Amino acid sequence: MKYSKLAEFYEEVSSTTKRLEKIDIVSKFLKHLDNKEVMYLLLGDIYPEYDERRIGISNQLAIKAISKATGTDSKKVVQEWKAIGDIGKVAEKFTLHKRQSTLHSHILTTEKVLENLRKLPELEGKGTVGKKLSLITELLTSATPIEALYLVRTLIGDLRIGIQESTIKYGILKAFFKNNKDYEYKIQQAIDNTNDLAIVFEIAKKGKIRDLEKVQLEIGKPIKVMLAQKVVKIEDGFKALGTPCAIEYKYDGFRLIIHKQRNKVILFTRRLENVTKQFPEVVEYVLKYVKGDSFILDSEAIGYHKKTKEYTEFQSISQRIRRKYDIEKLQKDLPVEINVFDILYYNGKSQLEEPFKKRTALIKKIIRNHPYKIIHAKQIITGNIKKAKEFYKKALKDNQEGIMMKNLNATYKPGRRVGNMLKIKPEERDLDLVITGAEYGTGKRSGWMSSFILSCRKGNKYLEVGKVGTGIKEKSEQGVSFEELTKKLKPLIIKEEGKKVWFKPKIIVSVTYQEIQKSPNYNSGWALRFPRFTALRIDKPLSEITTLEEIEIDFKHQKKNYRYG
Ligand code: AMP
Repeated sequence: MKYSKLAEFYEEVSSTTKRLEKIDIVSKFLKHLDNKEVMYLLLGDIYPEYDERRIGISNQLAIKAISKATGTDSKKVVQEWKAIGDIGKVAEKFTLHKRQSTLHSHILTTEKVLENLRKLPELEGKGTVGKKLSLITELLTSATPIEALYLVRTLIGDLRIGIQESTIKYGILKAFFKNNKDYEYKIQQAIDNTNDLAIVFEIAKKGKIRDLEKVQLEIGKPIKVMLAQKVVKIEDGFKALGTPCAIEYKYDGFRLIIHKQRNKVILFTRRLENVTKQFPEVVEYVLKYVKGDSFILDSEAIGYHKKTKEYTEFQSISQRIRRKYDIEKLQKDLPVEINVFDILYYNGKSQLEEPFKKRTALIKKIIRNHPYKIIHAKQIITGNIKKAKEFYKKALKDNQEGIMMKNLNATYKPGRRVGNMLKIKPEERDLDLVITGAEYGTGKRSGWMSSFILSCRKGNKYLEVGKVGTGIKEKSEQGVSFEELTKKLKPLIIKEEGKKVWFKPKIIVSVTYQEIQKSPNYNSGWALRFPRFTALRIDKPLSEITTLEEIEIDFKHQKKNYRYG
């Protein structure tokens, strides 16, 4: 397929903000699409979401490529970028200039674009930058201005056309199933089970809903996890879920999804990253203490002190997720315990549609509890407020975050924030926000960024809610430092103005705060008073950060509390 057709589609979809119009445009495009791999490009990817191979091109490399492909001095490219703020638009502009002086060019196809982009993550070692540069330049020299715009945006991972997986789901429904709303759930299930839009598209294209129903979970392919909604009081939890319900510890660790088939165990984070190599002891626990030929378990890994066995907070073990060396030492120093709270697949059969109480019973049947290795999540089933409160207190005393309340009859909904699973944490308020800007420090912090702008999420947009510096350390030995954050953020810079910088939203942090106030200073309309940094959330995807709506709920709740003392 000609890449120009895809570029036209991107243009058309960006030209409207109306959801239904977007769906209509997607549906028309899908009807004429032959190459299923183009489905990945629709969302700016080159592989399915769970695949860890990412294009990963920095703005700096994109600038070099634009400069080389269009014969423009790179300083001029940077200047223009600072003026326009969108590096894709810069590529479009200089490609237009070049086009006016040269006539020849090849026709770019989506196959060629995918071929070159897919080579990028494979490159390693000496000469990588040069090789990457020539793969990108090859595409850009053949590109028309509008193609250059979307190529560069795809390269830097910022397509900006305002469509999501759900837009594509509705597009498929309209294109191949006459918009029959009864089928929406089935398409969603096929997407949940595969996490691969190309596969779903290929099957849906034939128009037989039966074929989509046959798409099952597969061991080894990561699944998006089910997410919880927040409530403030146990009473609200009972009201929403009905009684009795299951109450579990809300463990302060990180989510680990465990796949097993015969002797092979694979571990995924909630970001769908494969972390099997980092946790050899967990593989061993699963093989030794869980019965079954094949299964997928949902769990929380928590850390404990190697001598005192006291449970520790997430931050103290977070380095185990990323670290690829000294694994054995880390395993000894920062041991983890696996707390299993759900099961999604067992011995060849999906468990997603089974009620939670049945799934829990299955967990109890197949896991032999081995404290400090692998256990079932602590759970009570009750409708009694006193018992629930006692359990909550116990969870906090055991250094955990709070409790989860779960509907006993609920099915498992991958990737959705559902009202059947509720989280309750104590009043100390905390949020997960993304860093979207910063200011360079002065004095002993000069050279480092020292004040970080935090944003929450509203749909696809990120809105500022405050700035944080407190809680970040001067020295790396003491914890997450200004230096470490500066290093992580530098490759993400999209705009600079004097001491101020703005970033691609990527680095997620947990912060506590004292109060939320209305504020004209930030574009969310809210400001956090006394925010304090508590942790880097490398385990969380952007889609799971605090939303504007949640901030508004926290604000209302805080007002209510004041009123009632
Ligand atoms: P939050 O990260 O605040 O949105 O809270 C939801 C997270 O709590 C889940 O994604 C899990 O990682 C974690 N969690 C801890 N204990 C449990 C549990 N018993 N059931 C479900 N999730 C849990």
